[in-house]
Amino acid sequence: MTTPGSSPPESRERLVVVGFGIAAYRFIERLTALGAHDRYGITVIGEEPDPAYNRVRLSEWLDRPLADALAGPRDPGPRDLGPLALASPDWGKARGIRTHLSTTVVSIDRDARTVETARGESIGYDRLVLATGSVPIVPRIEGVDSDGVFVYRTIEDLEALRERASRAKRAVVLGGGLLGIEAAEGLRRLGLAVVLLQRAPHLLNRQFGPDAGTYLETRVRAAGIQPMPGATAVRIEARRQALAIELAGKDMPLTTDLAVVAAGVRPRDRLAREAGLIVAFRGGGIVVNDRLHTSDPRIQAIGECASAGRTVYGMAGPTQGMAHTLAEIMAGRSSRFGRQVPATRLRLVDLDIWAIGDTAALAERVTWTRDASYRQLKLRTGQIIAATTIGPWEELGVVQDLIRRRSPIWWWQLRRFRRTGMLFPRSETLPVAEWPSARVVCNCLGVTRGELAVALRAGCDSVESIARRTGASTVCGACRPLLAELLGTAPAPAAGAFVPAEAKARPALLGAAAAVVVLSVLMVAAPSIPPADSVADAGFLDALQRDGSLKRSTGFALLGATLGTLVLSLRKRWSRMRTGDFAVWRLMHGAVAALALATLVLHTGFRLGTGLNLALSATFLATSVLGSLAAAGVGRRGARTMFWLHVFAVWPLPVLIAFHILKTWYF
Ligand SMILES: Cc1cc2nc3c(=O)[nH]c(=O)nc-3n(C[C@H](O)[C@H](O)[C@H](O)COP(=O)(O)OP(=O)(O)OC[C@H]3O[C@@H](n4cnc5c(N)ncnc54)[C@H](O)[C@@H]3O)c2cc1C
Repeated sequence: MTTPGSSPPESRERLVVVGFGIAAYRFIERLTALGAHDRYGITVIGEEPDPAYNRVRLSEWLDRPLADALAGPRDPGPRDLGPLALASPDWGKARGIRTHLSTTVVSIDRDARTVETARGESIGYDRLVLATGSVPIVPRIEGVDSDGVFVYRTIEDLEALRERASRAKRAVVLGGGLLGIEAAEGLRRLGLAVVLLQRAPHLLNRQFGPDAGTYLETRVRAAGIQPMPGATAVRIEARRQALAIELAGKDMPLTTDLAVVAAGVRPRDRLAREAGLIVAFRGGGIVVNDRLHTSDPRIQAIGECASAGRTVYGMAGPTQGMAHTLAEIMAGRSSRFGRQVPATRLRLVDLDIWAIGDTAALAERVTWTRDASYRQLKLRTGQIIAATTIGPWEELGVVQDLIRRRSPIWWWQLRRFRRTGMLFPRSETLPVAEWPSARVVCNCLGVTRGELAVALRAGCDSVESIARRTGASTVCGACRPLLAELLGTAPAPAAGAFVPAEAKARPALLGAAAAVVVLSVLMVAAPSIPPADSVADAGFLDALQRDGSLKRSTGFALLGATLGTLVLSLRKRWSRMRTGDFAVWRLMHGAVAALALATLVLHTGFRLGTGLNLALSATFLATSVLGSLAAAGVGRRGARTMFWLHVFAVWPLPVLIAFHILKTWYF
């Protein structure tokens, strides 16, 4: 990496980033990691008083001690953002980036290539990146601008809310979506009696059907929040220190000490619209192509303010995806921003609630419910397009990958899902180190096991260093235990939890691996049996070598066993081959390999041979030993290296076998 700002300033392009939220932060961090920040003189302008923070964890701000909020006007110096912090106060200085906080950009002059701030400054650019995020939607209700009515978007919003809550006992939240439930839960934690109004007939109506929505209602109520589905606020009246909220069709207004409006967000695209850039007609959003260019080639847009592929993604995962793509493009790589599968987790007391993919789409629904768990798939033309769940679901990463790859789902998988709530047999839930590389580990940002493996190879040795490099675990944090497991700093899932077949098969697998290693060592180390002088003197092994038909039989048996191991190994690589337990298939692979080695002993009488035969024996033994070592260390990191060496060693085997058969047949 180059020293920040080491290129002479005049040779660098002026890159101005408007907005200093997650998108801007991740973009500049990635540009720095790629070593390309040196090409640009970077200026970042943010309206909020703090450097970039993790908005996803905003509700945690409510849990901080109240003393700071009550102490009067706050010190203008940097404040400690605790777990929300992304960029430290000296972040810009350390990277040679000019940072303007508490500064709003009010207009863009595309001809002069400048942006104007509310303070009257004019800042010139060669490249402009808009990362202005979203603004809360505030419904047009009379009195919605009264004192005591809040939105839920920034630290400042929550500071004001927390201050009011310190003098309050009751709160009403308008909106029963993800944000509304999260706000209600935050206020409940502050000790307030919370009423949650939802215009639709049930909570989370965009994500869940009526059955799950009703179930969620009972859980929300049990958590101490009073949901009111089907209730529409039509007027708010400020009465001294209280608010009276009139509801459609109800005579008595709801009286409360404060109200929070959580009715969704809309892209903050006014700046772009006023500068004449193309903005999506429906729902807004600055229209960008797959290289994140707006209708002005000098201006690009990322994050929640952008509309890519006719979609405005209101989630942290796609935001990071856009930021990374743009950094790569600006670093000179040929990156493209493709379709994303957004995922979000609702944090509600003890409930694990996930919504992945296009949950609002009208599509066929397949649902499984049992006791406290609910799982639903949305299907279109045989592919899963969305999944929602209440309660843990160990297949979530696989399902997210299926949605991303638009893989077809078979009828028997749906049948299994309807019966058991699982698309695959239970033992598919292997230790994370054993997951296929495309499987998603961090659901929020869609970070796969393969990407984590790259981070490990690049030297990441702690959850924090992986998080810095890939972003994994930085949104909701639910995948932290998986990252720790991958690093070997936490135990693999307990036997009996999700890996019973794995655990049961392990002793037998180790036995097969040991047999293979012992036979291989004997093949190399044991003295070859010298040919007897006469047939009468020949021992069993020698006799097998002398009799042509017996020799052919052991040869065909060996060929069959070798092909058997190859076919059995396909279970891991070929997604269509999903029948039965993976652990059982692997055990069979090991057992047939041990059988093949025993047959090799019979076929050769401990003789390695010369020339082609020696090459064949050596390849066979190397493949077997490497495979056994990989099996013995299943789930550990070194085992992966052994596994890949095993796979590489297998490749020459079919060719050598083919030559051996040809030679035997010819002579
Ligand atoms: C309470 C809450 C919980 C959430 N939970 C989740 C979750 O669980 N999972 C998930 O995936 N997503 C979640 N999100 C959404 C997630 O936070 C956003 O997707 C993400 O913050 C978008 O990043 P961004 O940089 O595009 O926008 P923002 O984070 O909004 O940043 C934009 C910044 O630009 C500034 N700005 C705007 N206009 C100007 C201007 N003219 N001049 C200067 N500065 C300007 C804004 O003040 C802001 O600081 C949540 C959001 C909230 C509010």
